[in-house]
Amino acid sequence: MREELEEKIEKVLIDEESLTKRIKQLASQINEYYKDKNELVIVGILKGSIMFMAELSKNININCTLEFMDVSSYGASTESSGNVKIMKDLDTDITNKEVLLVEDIIDTGRTLEALRRSLEKRGANSVKIVALLDKPERRLIEIKADWVGFKIPNEFVVGFGLDYNQLYRNLPFIGVLKREVYE
Ligand code: 5GP
Ligand code: MG
Ligand code: MG
Repeated sequence: MREELEEKIEKVLIDEESLTKRIKQLASQINEYYKDKNELVIVGILKGSIMFMAELSKNININCTLEFMDVSSYGASTESSGNVKIMKDLDTDITNKEVLLVEDIIDTGRTLEALRRSLEKRGANSVKIVALLDKPERRLIEIKADWVGFKIPNEFVVGFGLDYNQLYRNLPFIGVLKREVYE
């Protein structure tokens, strides 16, 4: 089974060990940044950020709550539709709170821009962004994450939370899918 799954992968872009190591570094930068705050609301964007969120939050040493939002923009295709719709909202009030948005990847920037604006409007004290991956070549909307794990080239990647058609999220590495899978 496992082999069949990995057969669909053209190449491994970031292996498990590099992910763990880099995420620890991001967490220490984030700990340093928030060290004078007594609470942080960490918001993971479903579903792509789940692995990153788990790995990152294990290394955060500030009191924090873990929240999730689900927004839709991609569907089954590999291109952003430009429409960002909130499918599942926060369970909590973020007025005067420090909010850290955790995203799997920044591509065109549409998703994050819409989300950041929406959370700022609710009266958060601050809204910061950490993204595991960044594809700067694809940016349509100017947005900069406060922390980025890895800059990657313009290729469609899966694994470590990221899917193609809901599959491959469980791979422990970031890989490039063979074109034949989606063409
Ligand atoms: P944006 O709004 O920045 O165009 O899209 C961001 C979202 O699109 C990401 O959160 C992710 O769900 C999806 N996405 C963008 N690039 C990729 C990619 O290379 N692989 C996968 N699996 N999803 C991607
Ligand atoms: Mg996402
Ligand atoms: Mg997706």
